[in-house]
Amino acid sequence: MLGNFQYCNPTKLYFGEQSLTFLKEELQKYGPKVQLSYGRDSIKKNGIYDQVMELLKEAGKTVFEDPGVMPNPTVEKLYEGCKIARENEVDLILAVGGGSVCDYAKAVSVSAYCEEDPWEKYYERMEEVDNRIIPVGCVLTMVGTGSEMNGGSVITNPERKRKIGHVFGENVFPKFSILNPVFTYTLPKYQMVAGIYDIFNHITEQYFSGEDDNTSDYVMEGLMKSLIHSSRIAVADPMDYEARSNIMWTATWALNTMVEQGKTTDWMVHMIGQSVGAYTDATHGMTLAAVSMAYYRYICPYGLQKFVRFAENVWGVQTEGKSKEQIAKEGLASMENWMREIGLVMNLRELGVTEEMIEGIAEGTFVMDGGYKILSHEEIVDILRKSM
Ligand code: NAP
Ligand code: FE
Repeated sequence: MLGNFQYCNPTKLYFGEQSLTFLKEELQKYGPKVQLSYGRDSIKKNGIYDQVMELLKEAGKTVFEDPGVMPNPTVEKLYEGCKIARENEVDLILAVGGGSVCDYAKAVSVSAYCEEDPWEKYYERMEEVDNRIIPVGCVLTMVGTGSEMNGGSVITNPERKRKIGHVFGENVFPKFSILNPVFTYTLPKYQMVAGIYDIFNHITEQYFSGEDDNTSDYVMEGLMKSLIHSSRIAVADPMDYEARSNIMWTATWALNTMVEQGKTTDWMVHMIGQSVGAYTDATHGMTLAAVSMAYYRYICPYGLQKFVRFAENVWGVQTEGKSKEQIAKEGLASMENWMREIGLVMNLRELGVTEEMIEGIAEGTFVMDGGYKILSHEEIVDILRKSM
């Protein structure tokens, strides 16, 4: 049964090949000072930087550049961004990049005027925002996280070996996001498929929870089927607009908070993956891929009915004359075959995890209680070992 909920998603999306032209009218809604946050060199190489700068210039903005947002943005970089925002009293933070830049922009947005250490307040203690928030807009260049239309913000503290996500409320969602599938054409294949798996896992994190009948599970089955289909086309031809645009839209749907309304969710693959990320700085989607099969095979008996439904409805497994266990097993085997086919990293060793790190990674894993099994420390260690 659906639980009670209130729902609002305040992010305005501009989608399509011409979507960047709408930046001009969005910019008019904000004051003259814009903090332009971006990653390393990708937007300069592919020309997106020049296009955005041109529009900022035409709109008469004063731009405060904030480059160097790294994948898995760190707390040190956050402090740097807060300084730029505060000292220049910026009116808007414009994030141009992937989930890391969008997440980081939201972190700066709530942290610039925070009177204590934002890492402690917002990430360690997960407190509500009670200070001034700077509006954020995004121009997305990498697809996967859904950060363009949610309140999520993941920050890494390398010293403490912690990677923590805070899901902020609707006042921290980007005010607008510009989604042009063509901007994602220059992504290396490794990043593209990592993003595809991030999307898939956002869906399974919400799907593999609960035994009730709810609309969201049907929607998620459709999203997964579309993603599997488009991923195969995109891997063969990264310039296929139809596939790339469908993947981009599926990513937004997967984590714009719509499908989670009124249902329970799991998120344990993300919790383990984030802890792996804190130890290795590996690409987010690959950390999820590397631990997924061991995790899902482990929890399968505890949520057997849903794994049977997954096998049938997502992977088209034939059920006649087979036991539930057999059907569920075949569904997971199909998932693993697809993951290998598109080129995901399927083990932790390849991401730089060593035996010595396993206890620490398990220790740093935040245990959620919405899935089919609340994991003990030993069970997390076991899943990590099986993922090596
Ligand atoms: P990302 O870390 O933003 O970007 C990965 C890499 O892709 C960067 O090296 C970047 O290079 C490059 N890149 C981006 N766009 C490109 C383009 N168009 N062409 C060529 N290269 C491009 O990747 P992401 O997966 O989107 O974000 C990962 C972060 O989001 C992680 O910290 C993860 O934990 C977090 N996350 C957040 C949520 C959420 O709900 N908010 C959900 C899941 C994960 P440059 O640096 O040179 O630009
Ligand atoms: Fe994710």
